[in-house]
Amino acid sequence: MVDRPLTLMAVHAHPDDEASGTGGVLARYAAEGIRTVLVTCTDGGCGDGPGGVKPGDPGHDPAAVAAMRREELEASCEVLKVSHLELLDFADSGMMGWPTNDAPGSFWRTPVEDGAARLAELMRRYQPDVVVTYDENGFYGHPDHIQAHRITMAALELTGMTPKVYWTTAPHSMVRKFGEVMREFGADFDEPEQTEAGEMPEIGLPDEEISTWVDTTQFADQKFDALAAHASQGENIFFLRMGKERFNDLWGVETFVRVRDTTGAAVPENDLFAGLR
Ligand SMILES: [Zn+2]
Repeated sequence: MVDRPLTLMAVHAHPDDEASGTGGVLARYAAEGIRTVLVTCTDGGCGDGPGGVKPGDPGHDPAAVAAMRREELEASCEVLKVSHLELLDFADSGMMGWPTNDAPGSFWRTPVEDGAARLAELMRRYQPDVVVTYDENGFYGHPDHIQAHRITMAALELTGMTPKVYWTTAPHSMVRKFGEVMREFGADFDEPEQTEAGEMPEIGLPDEEISTWVDTTQFADQKFDALAAHASQGENIFFLRMGKERFNDLWGVETFVRVRDTTGAAVPENDLFAGLR
């Protein structure tokens, strides 16, 4: 149908998000001969430093952290067979409320149109058939994830040529299961904080609202190894504590909500490229 390879573009906030959020689909579609483009928006400078030094603590050097995480990101891409890695290299904004939110050059402080213009350039170059990013809450409220969502939606608007667009999500059944497993492995499962009005902001969606369930069971090993490539952030990557076997059992399916489609493929669907090949 087209004279260029079918292309998947995933837009993520930090090094390691590609593995946790979309490691399965990146590996699966690469194995099917689809071109995979990963855009990582920030340098991850607010991650843990060598020896587990936390951001803001003495001895934490964001530039050194960013350099280390870049190598880890490249290793993760190698595992997932990502065809093209593109770095927008904005400064990591840190968690919501951190002073780094407003630091010069932070992704969060970057005007959406500036980030979108850079991303639109990449979209014009690669002409992705499928674009994946986060929902408007950045899945769990991290400012860089929210900003990645905003620049992606704005860039899609500018370019207007991507037939299928998805947001990563998790069905509530899986979120519950995740909570149980975390408690089993002795981690605190942070229940989402109550807002002043008293309602709980929900992570994920009711199962029946998930449009797209992609079986990535065969690629769970690769996903785990890609996560493990981000060893410096090991303390923050809970999945690694579970071990490979358990992980493979639990996370064999990646789920998405389809927010744009010009193909007419019926939902629920089990393939991001349904209707395109
Ligand atoms: Zn992230």
